[in-house]
Amino acid sequence: MMPRGLRAAATIGRCRPTDAAWPSQSAWKQLNETVGGNLIPVDFPIADLKTDPSGAAAKALTDNLKNPYFIGERPGLTESFGWADAWATKPSVYAVAARNAGDIAQAVNFGRENNLRLAVKGGGHSYQGTSNAPDSLLIWTRHMKDIEMHTAFIPNGCEGVMKPQPAVTVGAGAIGKWAYQAVTTEAGKYVQGGGCLTVGLAGLVQGGGFGSFSKHYGTGAGGLLEAEVVTADGQIRIANACTNPDLLWALKGGGGGTFGVVSKMTLLVHDLPEYFGSVNLTIKAGSDDSYRRLIRQFVSFYREHLFNDHWGEQAHLTRDNRLRVRMMAHGLDIEQVKKTWQPLLDWVANSGGTCSIEGRTDMVCIPARHFWDSEFWKEHWPEIAFARNGNPLHALVDDVLLHVMRNPAVSFDHRAGANPNDAWWKDNTGEVAIFWWGYESLWLPSSLLKDDAQQHLANALFDASRHFGFALHFNKGLGGSPPEALALAKDTCTNPAVLDAFALVIAADGQQAAYPGISGHEPDLLTARKAADMIHQAMDRLRAVARQDGAYLSESNYFQKNFRQAYWGSNYPRLAEIKKKYDPDGLFIVHNGVGSEGWSRDGFTKL
Ligand SMILES: Cc1cc2nc3c(=O)[nH]c(=O)nc-3n(C[C@H](O)[C@H](O)[C@H](O)COP(=O)(O)OP(=O)(O)OC[C@H]3O[C@@H](n4cnc5c(N)ncnc54)[C@H](O)[C@@H]3O)c2cc1C
Repeated sequence: MMPRGLRAAATIGRCRPTDAAWPSQSAWKQLNETVGGNLIPVDFPIADLKTDPSGAAAKALTDNLKNPYFIGERPGLTESFGWADAWATKPSVYAVAARNAGDIAQAVNFGRENNLRLAVKGGGHSYQGTSNAPDSLLIWTRHMKDIEMHTAFIPNGCEGVMKPQPAVTVGAGAIGKWAYQAVTTEAGKYVQGGGCLTVGLAGLVQGGGFGSFSKHYGTGAGGLLEAEVVTADGQIRIANACTNPDLLWALKGGGGGTFGVVSKMTLLVHDLPEYFGSVNLTIKAGSDDSYRRLIRQFVSFYREHLFNDHWGEQAHLTRDNRLRVRMMAHGLDIEQVKKTWQPLLDWVANSGGTCSIEGRTDMVCIPARHFWDSEFWKEHWPEIAFARNGNPLHALVDDVLLHVMRNPAVSFDHRAGANPNDAWWKDNTGEVAIFWWGYESLWLPSSLLKDDAQQHLANALFDASRHFGFALHFNKGLGGSPPEALALAKDTCTNPAVLDAFALVIAADGQQAAYPGISGHEPDLLTARKAADMIHQAMDRLRAVARQDGAYLSESNYFQKNFRQAYWGSNYPRLAEIKKKYDPDGLFIVHNGVGSEGWSRDGFTKL
């Protein structure tokens, strides 16, 4: 065998199973032994839909494909199934179902020595398909789910330099729900995970990472204190402010699957407020003109009442003249929540019937510690159902349920043997097993909320909504955040546009349970291309008013123009240097990742 590194350096194309240089069965057997028997051939469950479309396996699969936990447990699947004219999920040949950093190092060494294409998968929620690659060796971290709380954590080697802080160490396979269970439900603290409960923390943090309350706490990347990382040379390294600080910085928003494989991360832990809350309401405008006025009113209402760290999540502007509010509150009780929204409700009531509230308005506050508490949800469901059926509590509060979670907000993993705490927000169900037609994002600067800019912004929002509906994600821009959250986010490599943005706007659409080449499940490419075009037109209208094109890398267009500028802005040159230092031969390449410009789109050929 050649010495380590030489083969990779001497070739420009990664090896496929059809190549003579593909490792022999005995080489794979040897790898299996070095990783404790955890090398597995990767199957492709979607194939069941093709081989026997009306059979029992296909029927069971169709049901299971609505469950993100089922998908997450399969190394051959990803949460998104693909993207029109871009990618479709495909399994690796083998996966190392890693149990520790040592397994990962063995897989990295084997991949490098045999010139293989490596893929890394945690929660499997990449929209861009960056955690799957056909003909590759997958490093799969799903089983690395240990979670350990620290009351006073000092990064390794930082004694005397950094003060001890509360923190949590999570294995690379941990997803949001498991972290919230340990940190919030059990320990009464807060860690910055995703809004979606099944997103992997390792992918989230390396992409930047926003949760419902990140306007208050800052990004997931900002909270990364230390990572254990296996770099391309097979070394298990520590990255923190005192050891390999450049690597730590690159992991804070530089994108997953690029600088090495993170085996565990230690994240800052924060205090909880007394309450988290939610506001769900829909306002329908009767005409285009009244919709214009509604948007104008909402912009000034947002600026005056919501542009602060109490309010996150989304307002959707639809083509059919609806404003759908799906927002989350941090640190407010139900009276404060109601008071905050009253001016907008009054405005609607006084609009002379040109705008009206559609359906029910829900304003809910629950003790923050129970926000992600499956047991609490289950315990209070009968109460909620009863309240909805005419219980005096319901009448008393006039369509507002106090201190309880809305019944339909979550789905549980009901499969036999499933962890009883495993659940996801129903709002995310629409993204499970989806084939994307189009998806774009853009940060909107806070300057657009100034008095003399509000009309301009409102016009652009209205015009954009004529092309395609979109959502303003207020928690994904840090304009209005407290100085501590801003300071943490400033010390990351995410595009600095995030610091001043009042929101990230996202427009997207797709088709669920669609996969190319499977009868009855074919993606509708004509509709997809039309949708992508309309999304683009809507976003172009907003880009014109934003006067910049910063986008959130984890939630952005596969075909993002100027992606280096959009994702990292002025931070890119430094990131490119760090990539060269830790991965000079491009062992870790993902679509539109740092250093990917030197590689073919499939990551197999050096250009
Ligand atoms: C339904 C849905 C909801 C979402 N909601 C949010 C949200 O609320 N907030 C938000 O900020 N983002 C959200 N995202 C985007 C999400 O944060 C990113 O897609 C994130 O990268 C997913 O991480 P993952 O581990 O689940 O995915 P994966 O697909 O497994 O990984 C994503 C990337 O990180 C790499 N990676 C994963 N694990 C490691 C590791 N251990 N070491 C090195 N590289 C690794 C992969 O190679 C891949 O390139 C959402 C995505 C989906 C599909």
